[in-house]
Order: sequence, then structure tokens, then C-alpha cells
Amino acid sequence: MPNPKRKHSKSRTGKRRNSKKIRNVVLSKCPDCGALKAPHSVCPKCGYYKGELVVPIKEKGKKE
Ligand SMILES: [Zn+2]
Repeated sequence: MPNPKRKHSKSRTGKRRNSKKIRNVVLSKCPDCGALKAPHSVCPKCGYYKGELVVPIKEKGKKE
């Protein structure tokens, strides 16, 4: 069975994961509620995109 001959060092694991880390997270402000959100996406707080309610957000404290 093909198996790795030796265990990876922690350093090697870290070097691999280093390239996957998130650099430069781009955030834009929601024009409706002012919260930070990803650009070109529906605001996770108010559910608005381009001034229209796209995803109705349930109010807090309410249980279904
Ligand atoms: Zn918003």
C-alpha cells in the first residue's frame, strides 16, 4: 500500500497551510444598514441588495 514513509514535520504542515490563509479580506459597507459586508452580495444583517429586500431576515428572539 502506498503510504508516506515519514510523518510530516509541523514546520512542513505550517508551510503548506500558510499559502491557504486568507489575505486582504475585502469588505464594503451596506448602504441600507451600514454594516460591513462582502461586496456584490446580499447584506447578511438586513438582507438588502441594491436597495431591494432580497432575503427577509427573521427578527431576533422569535422562535419557530
Ligand atoms: Zn445591510
